[in-house]
Amino acid sequence: MKMSKLFVQTLREDPADADVISHKLLSRAGYIRKLTSGVYNYLPLMWRVLKKIENIVREEMDSSGAQELLLPFLQPKELWEESGRWEVYGKELMRLQDRHNREMCLGPTAEEVITFVARNGLKSYKQLPCNLYQIQTKFRDEVRPRFGLLRGREFIMKDAYSFDTDEEGLDKSYKIMADAYTRIFERCGLETRAVQSDTGAIGGKLSHEYMVLTTTDSGEDDVFFCDDCGYAANSNHTVSVLPETQTDGGFTETKIVDTPQTTTIEKLCECLNIPASVILKCVVYIVDKKPVLAMIRADKQVEETKLMNAAGGNDVRIASEAEIEELMQQHGFNASKGFIGPKGLEDLTIIADNTVKDMKNFVAAVNKNDVHMVGANLDVDIPHIEKYYDIRLAEAGEFCPQCGKPLKVTRGIEVGNIFKLGTKYSKPMNAVYLDKNGKAVPFEMGCYGIGITRTAAAAVERWHDEHGIIWPVAIAPYHVTVVPLNDKDELQMNTAKSIYVKLLKAGIEAVLDDRSERAGVKFKDADLIGFPYRITVGKTITDGNVELKTRKTGEVETLNPDNAVSRVIELIKEAI
Ligand code: ATP
Ligand code: MG
Repeated sequence: MKMSKLFVQTLREDPADADVISHKLLSRAGYIRKLTSGVYNYLPLMWRVLKKIENIVREEMDSSGAQELLLPFLQPKELWEESGRWEVYGKELMRLQDRHNREMCLGPTAEEVITFVARNGLKSYKQLPCNLYQIQTKFRDEVRPRFGLLRGREFIMKDAYSFDTDEEGLDKSYKIMADAYTRIFERCGLETRAVQSDTGAIGGKLSHEYMVLTTTDSGEDDVFFCDDCGYAANSNHTVSVLPETQTDGGFTETKIVDTPQTTTIEKLCECLNIPASVILKCVVYIVDKKPVLAMIRADKQVEETKLMNAAGGNDVRIASEAEIEELMQQHGFNASKGFIGPKGLEDLTIIADNTVKDMKNFVAAVNKNDVHMVGANLDVDIPHIEKYYDIRLAEAGEFCPQCGKPLKVTRGIEVGNIFKLGTKYSKPMNAVYLDKNGKAVPFEMGCYGIGITRTAAAAVERWHDEHGIIWPVAIAPYHVTVVPLNDKDELQMNTAKSIYVKLLKAGIEAVLDDRSERAGVKFKDADLIGFPYRITVGKTITDGNVELKTRKTGEVETLNPDNAVSRVIELIKEAI
């Protein structure tokens, strides 16, 4: 490809809405242009990168025995009603109507469609196990599309679905996918960690997320991990062991005391001169439109996904002040945030964290402003709790649930996710096969996603410097750029052209920077775009030499043109 013809416009400025480095660099280097919120044009350079990632995914999926197909992007409501997700999938599901007023949605994933395909095509145990996958555009009407390709509304995902006769088979299929994922991300130049996670809107029994670990905001998930035993989990799934702490408030007498303006836990601690671990904290959430009262020891925080699961819901958010006011009025109270207690709110769903179990003679709010009860005890002063849950957000320094060593925390970008679905879709959608005895049995299913566009952005997050992108060779849009410094110099131009032609003949993806630009401009663009290798043909060609520069290391080798060609071919072959 000649640089003069390449469809690329580099920009001097970052887009105004770009907060993370991959969004900035992919925009500035001419890979993507925003069309509308969360929807991007993948320009030629980007498309080359995406196709490379897709092909790595394809090769590894195919070699693991999966078969590629392509399912429609538009999905009918009826299938979603069969699975029960039409009602419960939140606003992220982009719903629309056709000219006959038939309701449809744009596929955020394809469990329903693939289950439909399987129930028509997989009839006998003899056809199992079977794994089908596609690489297809997905649409999710994300609340906050941001970070460019990391969290778009329209994005490309590989989604695979496995069908097995029993759980043992599913375990095997899951393991095969886990191994394929490790290879896929490795080949894309990304080190990932598989972490246990919540199963979310997709549902099922067990799931692992493949995280690219980072320390920046581009990682939207917190990942807790143990260096000693390898335990790793998303914060929405981390179970930690707490250090010993004071849970007995020591208040021998139960009474109401004045605690003016103690609207926060800190103020209450100060007012009563107590640690937060002897205060019962009550927080009102809205789960699936209904108020839920979460109770936890006040030195700890509620993890919303855990709370949502404990309450059996699909959607969670903290209640607004207005909603709390309304709730109080309905129950004949007049308390504001900070003074909400469980007594008198027994009709709500109350979810208590495990930390509440050991509390004694503690401090609790009583739905009255500016006072608290001290010396409160479970069952006596607050409603009886049938069942305790883990709804607590883990914190760094708490202990590993497997080996007891301190947990660490870092941020992660989720590039892939694998789920054991079990019969979550096959049962309600009546997707069955006939077993050896001719009995109809629902499939044991698994599903496996990889964000193709997100993986590309994650690679930029991981591989860049102040000058631009440093593509891992296997997913770079082109491998080499050949840069003659002075396009008026015939020897330089001819040598550059001959190097370029030799590279093309050897199957190397090369660019010839034939533009009449200053050397500085050419170098800047080459670094910004992120070609892994650059061959520069300058004045030293009169001595028979050119320079080969490796973008990642900055290493420069001075070689004659033929040796530069063979050396770069060798380097590329090694790297892929
Ligand atoms: P997240 O928690 O980041 O919203 P998710 O867990 O809902 O993602 P999955 O349903 O597991 O996503 O989808 C599989 C993969 O698709 C993810 O691992 C991710 O790589 C990609 N993906 C999901 N949502 C987006 C998005 N909005 N933009 C880009 N890629 C996405
Ligand atoms: Mg996920």
